[in-house]
Amino acid sequence: MKPRILIILVACVALLAPLVLPSFQITLLNYIGLYALVVLGLVLLTGVGGMTSFGQAAFVGLSAYTTTYLTTTAALPDWLSWTNGSPWFGLVFGLLLTAAIALILGALTLRLSGHYLPLGTIAWGISLYYFFGTMTSMGGHTGVSDIPPLTFFRLILDQGEEMFYVIWVILAAAMFITHNLLSSREGRAIRALKGGQLMAEAMGVNTFRSKMIAFVISALFAALSGWLYAHTQRFINPSPFGLHMGIDYLFMALIGGVSSVWGALLGAGTLTIMKQWLEDLLPLILGSDGQYESIVFGLLIVLLMQRSPSGLWPFLVKLTPSSWRSNNHLTIDDNAKTLDRRDLPARESLLLEAKDVTRRFGGLIANNKMNLSLHAGEILALIGPNGAGKSTMFNQLSAVDTPTEGEIIFRGKSLKGKNARQVAEMGMSRTFQHVKMLPTMSVLENVALGAHMRGQKGVVSASLHLERKEEQRLLKEAKLQIERVGLGEYVFEEAGNLALGQQRLLEIARALCSDPCALLLDEPAAGLRFLEKQALAELLVKLRGEGLAILLVEHDMDFVMNLANRIVVMEFGELIAEGLPHEIQTNPAVLEAYLGGVE
Ligand code: ADP
Ligand code: MG
Repeated sequence: MKPRILIILVACVALLAPLVLPSFQITLLNYIGLYALVVLGLVLLTGVGGMTSFGQAAFVGLSAYTTTYLTTTAALPDWLSWTNGSPWFGLVFGLLLTAAIALILGALTLRLSGHYLPLGTIAWGISLYYFFGTMTSMGGHTGVSDIPPLTFFRLILDQGEEMFYVIWVILAAAMFITHNLLSSREGRAIRALKGGQLMAEAMGVNTFRSKMIAFVISALFAALSGWLYAHTQRFINPSPFGLHMGIDYLFMALIGGVSSVWGALLGAGTLTIMKQWLEDLLPLILGSDGQYESIVFGLLIVLLMQRSPSGLWPFLVKLTPSSWRSNNHLTIDDNAKTLDRRDLPARESLLLEAKDVTRRFGGLIANNKMNLSLHAGEILALIGPNGAGKSTMFNQLSAVDTPTEGEIIFRGKSLKGKNARQVAEMGMSRTFQHVKMLPTMSVLENVALGAHMRGQKGVVSASLHLERKEEQRLLKEAKLQIERVGLGEYVFEEAGNLALGQQRLLEIARALCSDPCALLLDEPAAGLRFLEKQALAELLVKLRGEGLAILLVEHDMDFVMNLANRIVVMEFGELIAEGLPHEIQTNPAVLEAYLGGVE
């Protein structure tokens, strides 16, 4: 979609709307704007980050009640009296309180996986709702009226048309911020949360932090909506902040298209207008007894979800001419300053070492007193039949798993107690046996994830696009690595469209993007065709020539024979041979265990 045209169109409609529309329609548009703000948070949290929350309405309520308390209480306690009933302090306190509570709730619930997170959000959604109802000073379930309108210098914004502009300007700003954030380094980390957490951690992303960022931002959008709601409606009670509203917000996100910024607006608009029409039309058709609208509404939602499971926005985008849609919304500045590289360790120096490593799974000994070492500028192959314990060894070497006994030493430091992220920072990078990438993201952005650790700019500068210089350096690095592995013509291609061999190259480019000195590859040749294997081997030889240390776990003997400097052979968790390829080829124990058995 050509975003510029769309933005101008929406802005023109929004500017003119209050001049031509009757006031009840302005009220409707105000609601759509307020809802869209909350739904935008859900796009970030649920659609992009993969965390389902039913509790957003509670955050709306939290800030609505905060500003109501500050602006309607006659005798505020001394430490708050200086706020003088100003809605603007209501906003500040609402945002601060919401952020604080979101941080606490996030710390408690974001580590939960599977169904626990949505259940956790339901729990806090319900408890905050009842809490609002118990506050007698805030009118209990009856609520509070006489909330003052917003004032802006001398302007008193007590008309729906005036609030319309406030709401829609804030919504536009929130959409702008979200859009910017998503196309930044921090945004890529958030986008990797859905289905790529293990991979992201290995690339040095603190995934818990990224979850927290998405969660707090979505709570703050809800808080903004609550503050606007209180001062637009100028009356609140607990009912719009309950669980049913939390569910409605999720519906809006799903209907609009949970993975795009515009989906939030579309979903909020569609659901609100649909509800309104049904409430107006159905009694005319079916008579006024019985609330048929919720039944028809439910049916319509099921139908919509069936016809367009990823929401209306992707559906609409598909209807536009294909020239409007392009994956290439990123530009790469070839003149950007190249990222600094770490000094590679001297050739042949020892980088990675396993010392008497034993790994038990219950009674099973997967690795037994394994010793191996990897030096700068060599390719070491770890081979052995299926079930020999190679992956177990690989996981320990890359700090995904810890030895039961013995230790792994990388660049002179024990990996005990270190996680994948810390090891990545120390200069080890890896690929996965089963390719782990984000199939709907471009090759460029997938690879740029590898450079995550090499940028510093945070959420605020990303939201305002103040980190473009750094971002250009990261993207340029990604492009260089993509070209280095020979995928230059696929920079803007969707990663999911690549053939398996190319996907493996993408993983290597991503690993290289973190500027490693040791590269660990888990079965990189599996599933590749002959020519693809050749291309991969050429690349690895080139990287070795540049001084990288490469460890490959392989099943394919022919592949490693012409490639590796040294080979370590495992069987039943033990090292049965170690040596140069031609020695291994003629080693009777290896022939017996490996070649004789499997091949
Ligand atoms: P390879 O990669 O050489 O095929 P693995 O390291 O995957 O071998 O497995 C070695 C042995 O350890 C196998 O018998 C496997 O079933 C067992 N194993 C691996 N991981 C686990 C685990 N997490 N829990 C229990 N057993 C495991
Ligand atoms: Mg394996």
